[in-house]
Amino acid sequence: MRISVGHLYPDYLNIYADRGNIAVLARRAALRGHELGVEAIGIGDPLEPGAHDLLYIGGGQDHEQALIAPDLAAKGGVVKEAVGGGTALLAVCGGYQLLGRGYRGRDGSFMPGAGLFPHETIAGERRMIGDVLLECELEPGEKHTVAGFENHAGRTRLDRGAVPLGRVIAGFGNDGESGYEGCRVGRALGTYLHGPLLPRNPWLADWLLRQALAHATGREPTTLEPLADDLERLAHTVSAERAMERGGRW
Ligand code: GLN
Repeated sequence: MRISVGHLYPDYLNIYADRGNIAVLARRAALRGHELGVEAIGIGDPLEPGAHDLLYIGGGQDHEQALIAPDLAAKGGVVKEAVGGGTALLAVCGGYQLLGRGYRGRDGSFMPGAGLFPHETIAGERRMIGDVLLECELEPGEKHTVAGFENHAGRTRLDRGAVPLGRVIAGFGNDGESGYEGCRVGRALGTYLHGPLLPRNPWLADWLLRQALAHATGREPTTLEPLADDLERLAHTVSAERAMERGGRW
């Protein structure tokens, strides 16, 4: 099967080795006999709802975010239509912020968002930096942990009733107060966690692949052949231990 990935603004939102997430998806797909076709989508490029099985947007600093924010906001309707139609999506950090209603930076300027995630972000004085451990339950009864690294000034407030990606065990998460991290809408996940994220959380990479394959085939998500994942599990353990040592507040 060919899995079509739309990578939004790779030239602008690419800090923290966000491309590593795409590399993990490509490799884990190939090991199951699937091919990942990645298309870069830049400023002014057309975006068709349903054209991609998975959309990806990475992290970037305020300056780069400001450059792409108007274009992403203009694409917001298409992104929402795509996710409503079952497209999977992963948004990291700066991209996660701009898929909400908007981001107010330290200088007071407001960047409009795409409006997919029910949240708003306002930059605070101190950055929230360090290893993070979450507990997630994307499927009822299936609990997993996610280990990653956060580095953000933005505090993201979820609307009442919004679904977070997970509960913070150690670290700051969305705003350092709510105890929640990230956001989920359908098959779309947004998170502050990078590192990059997917190499040390192979279950999450496979969850996204299963959702993308479900979109590609028009069927319900199916299970994927398990992989050895010894190194990935070790990376997860090391990262999770660092997060627990940190505890997660200033
Ligand atoms: N500029 C945003 C913040 O600091 C996002 C930065 C990032 O992607 N790490 O909150």
